[in-house]
Amino acid sequence: MLSNTDIIELTALRRELHRQPELSGEEIETAKTISAALNTLSPTHVLTGLGGHGVAAVFDSGIDGPTVLFRAELDALPIQEISSIPWASTVAGKGHMCGHDGHMMFLMALGRIITRDPIARGRVILMFQPSEEDGTGARAVVAEPVYKDIQPDYAFAIHVEPGRPFAHVSTRAGLINCASHGLEIKLTGKTAHAADPEDGVSPALAVAKIIVALDELGKGGELNNDFELVTVTHIQVGEYSFGIAPGEAIITATLRTAQDNTLRALDAQARALSEAIAVEYGLTITFNVHDAFAATVNNTQATNIAIAAMNAIGVEHSDTGLPMRASEDFGVFGWDAKAAMLCIGPGEHYAALHNPDYDFPDDLIPVGTAIFERITRDLLGSTST
Ligand SMILES: [Zn+2]
Ligand SMILES: [Zn+2]
Repeated sequence: MLSNTDIIELTALRRELHRQPELSGEEIETAKTISAALNTLSPTHVLTGLGGHGVAAVFDSGIDGPTVLFRAELDALPIQEISSIPWASTVAGKGHMCGHDGHMMFLMALGRIITRDPIARGRVILMFQPSEEDGTGARAVVAEPVYKDIQPDYAFAIHVEPGRPFAHVSTRAGLINCASHGLEIKLTGKTAHAADPEDGVSPALAVAKIIVALDELGKGGELNNDFELVTVTHIQVGEYSFGIAPGEAIITATLRTAQDNTLRALDAQARALSEAIAVEYGLTITFNVHDAFAATVNNTQATNIAIAAMNAIGVEHSDTGLPMRASEDFGVFGWDAKAAMLCIGPGEHYAALHNPDYDFPDDLIPVGTAIFERITRDLLGSTST
């Protein structure tokens, strides 16, 4: 378990990271800070540069047994922090507004605990992944050749989720977070003088038709297996002017479903209807995909292990608020491992994630750590007992 000194030092480290937020793909200093802190412990080895700036500490007992991965995220958000806390972000326009600075402390704390009292069998992987917020990090990490050497049997993550009582965990077997991606649709025609629009090829009417058709395609509604939601997020037609009939347009939309395969099908439908409308108006059309998130689906066995651990240490839990429409890229770690995501409450009236006044509640550090510690002992034991 954690000592008072651990909690004081981990709180200080969390606040140090909070002061120096880095965006997805840019987590150089955060990764250095984490690597330095890990190297004061006794991992078998520390891997760096995973999927960009990802860092993983491997604690290998040298005895046969399962490999258990715990995941935290390195990245912050392009949000200006509005706060008077002494450890507020010192970087203009960037802030740790998703609690990732706190999630990292669950792993650092577990590293301290298993350094003092090593595991009896198997391996623990403390995975600090990069680029969670844009959905690229977990995919890039598992695509690394070296990931095969640390392929986990089990993977666990805790994300703070507002709207729940303090230290109350929501989890369930099955869907936790939806699959989603951003589809950028670019239409190209030809500009003309606004007095003679017939000389050009304007995308304006095609844009109007496409956004209505996209809205019809994904109506949302109840979050079951058939859930499909298309949200038009941005439109640009030509430039801001009164003398030019536009020649180009961009529509961005976020596609969201309960399953990875239905997301692929929804994407195909969105492209087909957009293409048909583009052809009707004599426009060329191209597509790009951004922020692609796999669905996060909890494995039943891994979920039961987490629930047993919470029952053993008296952490209250339920499936309140699940599944969620929002996406999270932890699901990727569940492709080849039994994975479970836990959502921990900061208190019912706490600021929501991605808000400019969000700050991870340090009082959750011992709670999240205790859950991970118990999972570790249940699966991998202790050399002291
Ligand atoms: Zn976030
Ligand atoms: Zn997050």
